[in-house]
Amino acid sequence: MLQRRLFPIILQQFYPGQQETCLLSGIPRALQHGHRYAWNRSKATAAFPDVRERTLIAVKPDGVQRRLVGQIIQRFEQRGFKLVGLRMLQASEDLLSEHYCELRKKSFYHSLVRYMTSGPVVVMVWEGHNVVQTSRTMVGHTNPAEALAGTVRGDFSLHVSRNVVHASDSVEGAQREIQLWFKAQELMDWDCCDKSSTSEK
Ligand code: UDP
Ligand code: MG
Repeated sequence: MLQRRLFPIILQQFYPGQQETCLLSGIPRALQHGHRYAWNRSKATAAFPDVRERTLIAVKPDGVQRRLVGQIIQRFEQRGFKLVGLRMLQASEDLLSEHYCELRKKSFYHSLVRYMTSGPVVVMVWEGHNVVQTSRTMVGHTNPAEALAGTVRGDFSLHVSRNVVHASDSVEGAQREIQLWFKAQELMDWDCCDKSSTSEK
């Protein structure tokens, strides 16, 4: 029901003149032609911040080695976010060079890649209201020495080179990173039974 109400509004906003709907399904025609009217979630989330905002959270190799995966997952579940993707893998240098493309020129880049390839990582996609910004707050300052107690880095780490966890820093960054680490079919669309208790939408 909510989708039926939202789609026409979204279409009107971004595809003026394309509000035509299919007779049988009620799905706007523009949404049937993905290649012509590709869904621009970046614009959509800016205008409709609650439309399925998602972020990428990764437990880095030090977090996996120290058996912190469960506690980190628990924090996101407890906060009310919904887990929609989960993978454990040994990341390749190529994948990390894409993931950290903005840091390639930094002096710490090579040691960062060595650290991130030193063992398996657990990568997750979490969904929910304002999840990008809230999870950055939950994860804490990049440098654990400055991270507040109560944050993941503030509670579990000491040094910037071993800061346990990654969290996307913007909605656009999250979209890029999610596509890098997950195939579309690896992300689950599911309804959480407590949905109406954690958000009014
Ligand atoms: N990093 C590092 N030394 C630094 C700054 C960053 O080793 O001086 C590492 C650290 O693991 C950090 C990652 O590089 O998490 C990515 O840096 P960014 O500035 O994107 O911080 P984040 O978004 O992870 O808080
Ligand atoms: Mg970053």
